[in-house]
Amino acid sequence: MIPTLEVVLGSSRYYACEVCGMIYADSDTARSCESWCSAHGSCNMEITKRAIGKIRRAGLRLKRS
Ligand SMILES: [Zn+2]
Repeated sequence: MIPTLEVVLGSSRYYACEVCGMIYADSDTARSCESWCSAHGSCNMEITKRAIGKIRRAGLRLKRS
């Protein structure tokens, strides 16, 4: 299983794709994005349209879940 970047904003937890920095509300979607991004080197619009935000700098070190 691919480890997912965990983003904590206030009392909410979100999950980010470590490759493109898109943030998702559920870890499954973040994992799907990350595996797609790793394999294809670009984002899948079907996945990224479910993103709730984006980390300004992809690769930013956040707390790992
Ligand atoms: Zn991604």
